[in-house]
Amino acid sequence: MKKHNFYAGPSILSQYTIKNTADAVLNFADTGLSILEVSHRSKEFQAVMDEAQALVKELLNVPDGYHVLFLGGGASLQFCMVPFNLLAKKAAYLETGTWAVNAIKEARLFGEVDVVASSKDANFSYIPKGFTVPDDVDYFHYTTNNTIFGTEIRKDPDVNVRLVADMSSDIFSRPVDVSKYDVIYAGAQKNLAPAGVTLVIVKEDALGKVERPIPTMLDYRTHIKKGSMFNTPPVLPVYSALQTLRYYKEMGGVEALEKLDLAKAARLYEAIDSSKMFTGTVTDPADRSIMNVCFVMTPEYKELEKDFVDFAAARGIVGIKGHRSVGGFRASLYNALPMESVEVLIQAMKDFEATK
Ligand SMILES: *Cc1c(COP(=O)(O)O)cnc(C)c1O
Repeated sequence: MKKHNFYAGPSILSQYTIKNTADAVLNFADTGLSILEVSHRSKEFQAVMDEAQALVKELLNVPDGYHVLFLGGGASLQFCMVPFNLLAKKAAYLETGTWAVNAIKEARLFGEVDVVASSKDANFSYIPKGFTVPDDVDYFHYTTNNTIFGTEIRKDPDVNVRLVADMSSDIFSRPVDVSKYDVIYAGAQKNLAPAGVTLVIVKEDALGKVERPIPTMLDYRTHIKKGSMFNTPPVLPVYSALQTLRYYKEMGGVEALEKLDLAKAARLYEAIDSSKMFTGTVTDPADRSIMNVCFVMTPEYKELEKDFVDFAAARGIVGIKGHRSVGGFRASLYNALPMESVEVLIQAMKDFEATK
């Protein structure tokens, strides 16, 4: 049976990425060796790293003065690396979900943290508005897409301080004005590659402003100096990331991907809004994520949630169970998910509703 993969992460990758990765596991770049057994110092892998970095710059229009890194440790290591490298005295954070909470916890180990606004009071079901970012902080950190709660900020904010964003779950789903940011990071396992690598885009000018000693591996400058090859990088995930980046370029870049993503999300939200059985958990439509669509059953049908997961599974629909902190359902509509899968999910919702 054809599967429709709605997992939140690790999550669906393009068939182009998966097939080319599988080929390289057998024979990498005609070396007669597997990608699993070649030196990261080989000229063939150096070419992979170089092209992957160049394609990130091209797709996101990264200006001069920025570096593209592929690091280990996940987005969660960036929660600590960002303040280690940038927080001298005080930083401002927007608290919009579990990942933001985790980032704030790490930042507090390095200095004062000003939580400028939070949507914790309503289980992170909206994006706080009308907050101000003070001018006396070292940087402002926010999460562009709240993977667990299904809210998203799709406009690059204007602030008078350095700007840092966790874009783990919506990078490459829209054009980004990188020049506004000092650090952008994204765990690869949502919209780029298998788990094991984190994309970091860092502005050189933001570094070297803190006094504390920074352990070698946690210092962005180490990785910049060595072209993201200070130590062994995650070779296989970087290879897969390159395939996805080539695929994105072939698709027409982030503008084209955004169009498809907007269309998929609009279809699903429309189906949720017009249903009597299902209802969205994000209160303001303007805050709704186009990557992770969170919804539940209305109180009248609440006890049927598990039945629907089983009903959908019989049609090949995988990964729609909501995160335990929200419940209900979460359909992740990452770049690689085709509209066809959204239509199959919508049909399953309609057919299930008709049986009740
Ligand atoms: C998944 C996710 C993370 C955590 O990523 P890891 O690579 O598992 O550390 C952090 N932030 C956001 C927004 C995420 O979606």
